[in-house]
Amino acid sequence: MEEKNNYRVLLYYMYVPIENGEEFAIEHKAFCDELGLKGRILIADEGINGTCSGTVEQTNRYIEHMKADPRFADMIFKIDEADEHAFPKMKVRYRPELVTLRLEDDINPNQLTGKHLSAKEFYESLNDENTVVLDARNDYEYDLGHFRGAIRPDITNFRDLPQWVRDNKELLGEKKIVTYCTGGIRCEKFSGWLLQEGFKDVGQLNGGIVTYGKDPEVQGDLWDGQLYVFDERIAVPVNRKEHVVVGKDYYSGEPCERYVNCANPECNKKILCSEENEHKHLRSCSEECRSHPRNRYIAEHGLTEEEVKERLAVLS
Ligand SMILES: [Zn+2]
Repeated sequence: MEEKNNYRVLLYYMYVPIENGEEFAIEHKAFCDELGLKGRILIADEGINGTCSGTVEQTNRYIEHMKADPRFADMIFKIDEADEHAFPKMKVRYRPELVTLRLEDDINPNQLTGKHLSAKEFYESLNDENTVVLDARNDYEYDLGHFRGAIRPDITNFRDLPQWVRDNKELLGEKKIVTYCTGGIRCEKFSGWLLQEGFKDVGQLNGGIVTYGKDPEVQGDLWDGQLYVFDERIAVPVNRKEHVVVGKDYYSGEPCERYVNCANPECNKKILCSEENEHKHLRSCSEECRSHPRNRYIAEHGLTEEEVKERLAVLS
């Protein structure tokens, strides 16, 4: 029998020039397969961004291998203990950008980025009335959990964040701005963009929410809800002092931290809902999605046309 907690999930990034990125990605994939890791790694000319899972031994070997490469010697690995793999397979992709912002003037975070704040410094800025805290993630990530009082940008794709800032400048005013994201990589570029855009005093949470939650002193304080993560765990805890649920059931508005995807394969919207409401609403976000001819909920549960009609009748 396998021991519990024998697995780990790694999260890491580094902005560093990688030559022949496409070739590097192919070799890196082969290496990860040989180790038996699973996960998702992006390679770009500007660096690497990865998250993967494996046994303690596999992940240790991976870290050792990466640290032996001078380019990645200083890379920081955030480590979560786990009971099993957090990904179905290993994917290593070559991409033009590590995070998709598609800026007219691309930012090199090694040259221009916001001040890196420690967990303690970030905690203090959460309590500072002259600072606005801006969530640099997507709406569905915010809705599951966020820092108390943080501004929620109304976006579903990170690349829309710069335009959102331009359209909502009055929310930021003349105050100091601090930004945060899951592991820190999005803020490296985004905070640099804020500086380039003319904002004067810009900070970013170093190592992101994941690092903040592990800090022995702040222990995730002032985080509400759970952290959305891009692996099979979906939601992980951050605040070790208290747990306040901020997620709301899409249908009933009741406290909820359970995400499902809309059963319409063309919609796929992330919906927070209870199991009960998932069944009641055929796991669909709208009337249109419920009656989509390829609705996955109907297929999975083998519902007859009659049964679907009955469920829909209850809703109307
Ligand atoms: Zn839908």
